[in-house]
Amino acid sequence: MKELVILSGKGGTGKTSLTAAFASMAENAVLCDADVDAADLHLLMAPDILRTTDFKGGNEAVIDPQGCSACGMCRALCRFDAIRQDGNLFSVDSIACEGCGVCVDFCPEQTIEFPQTTCGQWFISDTRFGPMIHARLGIAEENSGRLVALVREETRKLAKAQGFTTILTDGPPGIGCPVIASIGQANAILIVTEPTVSGLHDMERLGKLAAHFKVPAMICINKYDLNPDKTVAIETIAQDHHMEVAGKIPFDPSFTLAMVQGKSVMEAFPESPTAQSIAQIWKRVNGRIAIPSNGEGGLSATRSGHFGHCDVFTLVDVANGEITNVSTLANGEHVHGGCMVPVNLLASNNVTALVVGGIGMRPLMGFRQVGIEVYHDAERAEIEPVVMDLIQGKLPMIREDQVCGGGGQH
Ligand code: SF4
Ligand code: SF4
Repeated sequence: MKELVILSGKGGTGKTSLTAAFASMAENAVLCDADVDAADLHLLMAPDILRTTDFKGGNEAVIDPQGCSACGMCRALCRFDAIRQDGNLFSVDSIACEGCGVCVDFCPEQTIEFPQTTCGQWFISDTRFGPMIHARLGIAEENSGRLVALVREETRKLAKAQGFTTILTDGPPGIGCPVIASIGQANAILIVTEPTVSGLHDMERLGKLAAHFKVPAMICINKYDLNPDKTVAIETIAQDHHMEVAGKIPFDPSFTLAMVQGKSVMEAFPESPTAQSIAQIWKRVNGRIAIPSNGEGGLSATRSGHFGHCDVFTLVDVANGEITNVSTLANGEHVHGGCMVPVNLLASNNVTALVVGGIGMRPLMGFRQVGIEVYHDAERAEIEPVVMDLIQGKLPMIREDQVCGGGGQH
């Protein structure tokens, strides 16, 4: 099971919209909203709540006046000034009580009870993209780190019990305790940032946190085109900290308009630049890459320059930016005019991205129709470095002026 946690240094960077967009493309995934202080993934997912459970997050002192001898010990010891006195009547101000338990321990009459308090609720829900675990913390309630840990644990349990292979977690903003609670045992985090001074700073701090907990971090730069200099600075810092820039999303109002409609941008505006960029990111870091190969294929084999006539396709499965499996697929019989043979072959084998040295217009159009992204590298013969560059977002999509003429036999 793989878990990708989407984080940002502050709220409002597009973290939840991106999670929703990924959810609409992910297969066999469970969703987890770990941003329990300001949960809003449910606004896009419209969950159908199946089960509600109280979250008991702490304790609160309650004085039983029947047993109280009015000695005043509790009032003298409470550092939070939470004990009220009205003549001989002592009581606890439940708002001020921090639940430290000192008064409970030192009450000579043992007349202070210490029940657990309900700080919020957590939910198991169904959504149009699969199950979702989410929570709501009560107003002014604390212990959100514990609630984050709880929803993640319950998500893992559900995923394991029902055979889901992927967990997509909308994490809390910042770098505090809830964020730390959200990244333990994650396979990777994706830091959503913007090209601003604070975005750069926040991204660097989150990157250091991820490195400290040894969780691989990737970067997604939202609205990258608003400040090209800062975008370059973010890319440089990411490289210095060994973080992969998984993708860049242009400034595009459709991101916000989709949210207003209660949909992911992939549903509301599938042709928008934002949707296209997000699809590219997802298919690269969570998909199946095909490389036309010579001989028996495999990561250490060489690439074939003629994708339609290659011996085999090397298929590389990637989950959260890491290679999880390498296999090969025999090429189909490619008769003249049969440019759609490899298109159909790769589509039926769940390929999401293809790297070619050249390609004809007809098969390129075919791959676009079936949703396979086509990338270009005409330089290198080795497969592995090309695959790694693709995963790390360093390969360009093929441009139409790079398409070959003729029968499209490349
Ligand atoms: S310490 Fe116990 S007995 Fe003393 S005033 Fe407080 S509640 Fe009453
Ligand atoms: S539990 Fe702690 S904070 Fe609450 S009333 Fe007792 S001493 Fe004060």
